[in-house]
Amino acid sequence: MKTIVLTFDDACRSHLEIVVPILEKYGFGATFFISQPECWFETPNAHLTKTEIVAFYKRGFELGNHTMNHPDLRILSDPECRSEISLMNDLIKNTGAPSPVSFAYPGGPYAENAAKLLPDHGIRYARTTEHSLWTKETDPLRIPCYSVCNKQLNNFREGLELLGTREDAALVLLYHGVPDIAHEHCTTDPEIFADHMKYLHDNGYQVLSMADYGTVLMN
Ligand SMILES: [Zn+2]
Repeated sequence: MKTIVLTFDDACRSHLEIVVPILEKYGFGATFFISQPECWFETPNAHLTKTEIVAFYKRGFELGNHTMNHPDLRILSDPECRSEISLMNDLIKNTGAPSPVSFAYPGGPYAENAAKLLPDHGIRYARTTEHSLWTKETDPLRIPCYSVCNKQLNNFREGLELLGTREDAALVLLYHGVPDIAHEHCTTDPEIFADHMKYLHDNGYQVLSMADYGTVLMN
C-alpha cells in the first residue's frame, strides 16, 4: 500500500478547527507537533493553548514534541536542548496524553547535537525538512519530508511522484496552518488542503501518524 505520513507543525488553531474534521472524514492519522513560544500568542487566535492541544489526543491523533520555544537547536548547549525537549514533554504529559515519541526539529534543519539527546527523553522518531522518502534505511532521528504549504493540486501530485508506487517507503508531508494567520509564507488555503486530502483518499493512499508508520517499519 502507498503510505503518506501527515505532520502539522506549530499548533495552529486552524489545525483543530479545519484540519481535524477533514482527517476524521477520511479516517486519516496524523501527528501534530506542538511548540508554545510566548511571542506566538501576540497574534490573536493564531495558536492553540496548552490546555486546548489535548483535543488532538482525545480525537485519536498523535501529539509530537516541537520544543517549548522553537529555537534553532544547532546553536544551543546540551543542557539548553534538554530543557527545550523536556519542557514540551512535560506540557504534553500534563494534558493527560502519553509522553511523545515523535519530534520535529524547530525550523526544520537536522540538529546532530540535539538528536543524540532525544532517546533519553523517550523520542524514537524525529523529522527534519530534508527532502526524501522515509524507508527502513532512514535514520529514525533524521526523517525527511515533503513540505507542501500552498501547492495547487497539480503541483501536489508532482510532489507525490517522489513516492510513486513504492510500498516499501512513506512520504512524510509537512503542513503549517490551514490557513496560517501568523506565518503567511507557509500558509495553506483550506480549499487547497481539502483537495489534497480528497486526492489521497480517492487514490487509495494509507495515511498514518509518524508513530504508526514507525511501528509499521519495525514489523
Ligand atoms: Zn515549527
